[in-house]
Amino acid sequence: MGNLVSISTIGQDSHRFGAPCGNTLIRLGGIDIPFDKPIEANSDGDVVYHAITNAISGFTGVNILGFEADTICLEKGIKDSAVYIDKALEYLKNGKIIHCSVSIECLCPKIKPHIPAMKESIGKILGIPSSSVGITATTGEGLTGFGRGEGIQVFCILTFAKEI
Ligand SMILES: [Zn+2]
Repeated sequence: MGNLVSISTIGQDSHRFGAPCGNTLIRLGGIDIPFDKPIEANSDGDVVYHAITNAISGFTGVNILGFEADTICLEKGIKDSAVYIDKALEYLKNGKIIHCSVSIECLCPKIKPHIPAMKESIGKILGIPSSSVGITATTGEGLTGFGRGEGIQVFCILTFAKEI
């Protein structure tokens, strides 16, 4: 039996909003949120799941977004970002996710009411309790395009236990 160490990795992603289209739903952290603009993306545009996918890649060293996810999305037509997380998790090997911290920057939509459901959804897909998922949201005071309502940026830090 080897020693256990903890390793943390970062993932980031951002997407722009499309033109206002009346009532629609955008996918964030695996849940659908009512909004008046779509997210511009080839996939479902789940910027939270994409940041998580990139944080998993930060551990495995196997990049999924821009690589396998493009094949899955463009050739097989699978838009569900949960599939990209599952693909990234296939390369985990001797690592186990123990905590997920997510930081969201956007002016709109309002994130706060959706945080409990997002924690549940993220905990489920990563195989950790929702109490091991932390989500904060900021409007960024209009200092960036995200804070001015042009899109959403997400950072994710994942913590892994790894046997060495
Ligand atoms: Zn993305």
